[in-house]
Amino acid sequence: MSSHETDTAAGACGCDETGARGLLPVEEARRRILEAVTPVEGREAVPLAAACGRVLAVDVAAPFDVPPHDNSAMDGYALRAADVPGEGEARLRVVASAYAGHPFTGEVGPGEAVRIMTGAVLPAGADAVVMQEHVRLEGETVVVPGPVRAGTNVRRAGEDLRAGAPVLAAGTRLGPAQIGLLAAVGVAEAPVARRPRVAFFSTGDELRPPGETLRPGEIHDSNRHVIRALLQALGVETLDLGLVPDRPEAVAAALRRGGEEADALLTSGGVSVGEADYVTDALRQLGEVGFWRVAIKPGKPLAFGRIGRAHFFGLPGNPVSVMVTFLQLVQPALRRLAGERRVEPMTVRARTRVPLRKRPGRADFQRGILSRAPDGTLEVAATGPQGSHVLSSMARADCLIVLPRDWGDVPEGTWVEVQPFHGLIPGCGA
Ligand code: AMP
Ligand code: MG
Repeated sequence: MSSHETDTAAGACGCDETGARGLLPVEEARRRILEAVTPVEGREAVPLAAACGRVLAVDVAAPFDVPPHDNSAMDGYALRAADVPGEGEARLRVVASAYAGHPFTGEVGPGEAVRIMTGAVLPAGADAVVMQEHVRLEGETVVVPGPVRAGTNVRRAGEDLRAGAPVLAAGTRLGPAQIGLLAAVGVAEAPVARRPRVAFFSTGDELRPPGETLRPGEIHDSNRHVIRALLQALGVETLDLGLVPDRPEAVAAALRRGGEEADALLTSGGVSVGEADYVTDALRQLGEVGFWRVAIKPGKPLAFGRIGRAHFFGLPGNPVSVMVTFLQLVQPALRRLAGERRVEPMTVRARTRVPLRKRPGRADFQRGILSRAPDGTLEVAATGPQGSHVLSSMARADCLIVLPRDWGDVPEGTWVEVQPFHGLIPGCGA
């Protein structure tokens, strides 16, 4: 951050749009939250069939070489390279066949070859494999054009993993490749961390569940469904405490239950300035909760602390604020809680295809759509109205555009950081 302050739109300003100071930078809020969270205790062994999305609890080392033996990378003929040293053709006698899972147990002698399939053990004596497309068969004789170098088309034992080598580190989230690797080293049940249990509820007298008819002044409760889906995508255990009316006893009871039964507790609504005081009161009575104003847009009000045995996150009420604060501040904490080592969001750089409106004061997380520019570089556009209640523009987005706190309006063509929603391999969910 710049050390001087200016009054220009893009200047370094430690204030929000009303000029108020004292907002907590997003990175600082994330740092403080992560500092307060340690991985859950307890682990279990789960069959590989149920391991996708789980977090490995221990370091795993290879108990043997992978692959366990030298083997052929091609369908062809295993031979001694010394038999085919020069440019000319060599004529070798085919003495046996070796298939994957059915090794040839004899030895390949001088002037001999063994028909071999991909993955079959390289027979003793042989040190190279020639592709079948490169040879000619004349009865029992294979005619091989030279020269052939030793090691050609041979996969060496231990080429993937040496016996004793680290395979996967504790804290790795298991996806298809990691699960395959565990299988390759003979692990049938993955030692994984216990899944954290995360409770959540919505507050607000104006809220009604989808499926019920809205009365005047009411809206449907979106947040609980947003939060549940976010938690399911993370693979944590969920505990839905429902829709809680704006009544002190009801809120206190739900908070108490979450604090008893969960490792983390998330609420939406009721933490903004001007909210009925009972939420704040209940939080103060039941646990140690701080009320933060984070330099994040959408978002800003956030309650964080502990209730009972649960880490508590009081998120704002607007659905887009819920998603953004969850992704920036809660998800890293839940990933750490789940035992994961890498918890920070991934970012890529893209050029804005359109000018972006922004006021200095808070880091802005705008909803964006990524595309490819004609020169091959990534570009991004905003999805339209960016109000924190406009969930439709979030639903159209495939990324968040991260605009630093001090920036003002962003001209078209500016390079910006972007957090894509999806990678190549989707998560496993719950
Ligand atoms: P609050 O922080 O409780 O004042 O809520 C801020 C805004 O978010 C208000 O417009 C609420 O109606 C809205 N809101 C709160 N909770 C939800 C919810 N669960 N689903 C959709 N909108 C909500
Ligand atoms: Mg409310």
